Amino acid sequence: MQAWVIGNWKQNPATNHDVNALLNDLLAVTDAQADTTPVTSRFQLMVAPSCIHLAAVSARLKGSTIQCAAQDISQHSASTGAYTGDCSAQQVADAGATWTILGHSERRQYHKESHDTLIKKLTHAFAKNLGVVFCIGETQTQYDDQQTLNVINDQLSVLKDLLTQQPELLLSLSERLIVAYEPVWAIGTGKVPTVEEVSKTHQYIKQTIASFAKTVDNMTVLYGGSVNASNADSFAADAMIDGALVGGASLKAESFLAIANAF
Ligand code: 13P
Repeated sequence: MQAWVIGNWKQNPATNHDVNALLNDLLAVTDAQADTTPVTSRFQLMVAPSCIHLAAVSARLKGSTIQCAAQDISQHSASTGAYTGDCSAQQVADAGATWTILGHSERRQYHKESHDTLIKKLTHAFAKNLGVVFCIGETQTQYDDQQTLNVINDQLSVLKDLLTQQPELLLSLSERLIVAYEPVWAIGTGKVPTVEEVSKTHQYIKQTIASFAKTVDNMTVLYGGSVNASNADSFAADAMIDGALVGGASLKAESFLAIANAF
């Protein structure tokens, strides 16, 4: 299975100038490698810029080996309408994104995204042919209370309910969905679970999805949370870890590509 290494830029960089500088640095390496080594043979790269930079970044990445994702889409099905601040699935697809992140813990925390909201967003993304990087993970308290697998099970019930409503999605689910396991307590903190803990959780995620999506026996599951150039090797060595969703370390081409090269 090809690994995915995805950079979630969050609300970064602050200026167009800095976005261009980051893209220049990334493309200088990946374009050069594409001539000599097939970079995409081992891993697939994707970046998720903020909505304001999405069109420019995806235009710049056209023809490169790097795919472009939105960080979120509107919960409303309409492509246009009176939804101040929202960007519809249609708009992000038109801006050139081929994927969107959904359910990131920062959206769940700051925007109170619920089970039903996420079912709507997944529905709209798939309807506009966007792939989805679906984020799940427990908080520090839930981890301390050894509730990780229960929380994961609950968060995955969004996918189960979606498939009950739209069983036709099953046919292409493994190509259109990536799950990212991101313990909330590991995001931006420098703290990481052990590789064994991540591996066990990923195995549980794959088994749970296979239990309600019979055609998907090996869902792609990425790890996210304080992944950096120094610890990527250890995650990459585990067969249950199919890549990484990277925040802070994706804002420098050097560290992002070092993480990618570990896979
Ligand atoms: P950090 O890599 O900065 O911990 O962020 C992880 C993340 O939230 C990616 O979506």
